[in-house]
Amino acid sequence: MSGQPYDENNIFAKILRGEIPSHKVYEDDHTLAFMDVMPQAPGHLLVVPKAPSRNLLDADPAVLAKTIAIVQKLAQAAQEAFESDGVFVAQFNEAAAGQTVYHLHFHVIPRNEGEPLKPHSGKMEDGEVLRANAEKVKAAL
Ligand code: AMP
Repeated sequence: MSGQPYDENNIFAKILRGEIPSHKVYEDDHTLAFMDVMPQAPGHLLVVPKAPSRNLLDADPAVLAKTIAIVQKLAQAAQEAFESDGVFVAQFNEAAAGQTVYHLHFHVIPRNEGEPLKPHSGKMEDGEVLRANAEKVKAAL
């Protein structure tokens, strides 16, 4: 366990409750996926279980099992949608490891040979670009 409590008011909990908007690409009873607002590459999306946990360290293994299956589905769709050479999947646990939002999430980032990643939590992307990229992923699902 991480030792720290889950904060019901983290930004992804607010997205899950529909209190703030997101560019959704996938939803089922257990999982939501939406575009990262500060993408490290075009098509960068986040896969988030609906069940509350801060990160991998305090998550229910049954939730992890369901979530990773959806991570695979979204990684396949993102690779197809962006015709990428590969897909980077990342997940951070606590601040020392780079975590900034304390609701478990997996980053899915299409990657191409020779194209460096943009900085983590760097520049906010234009909403129209995010909307169009979400449509591309949805079309590939
Ligand atoms: P981390 O907790 O370090 O794994 O990263 C959190 C990620 O959430 C970063 O890549 C941010 O760009 C992204 N992010 C922060 N706020 C939002 C938001 N409102 N909608 C979508 N993505 C977000």
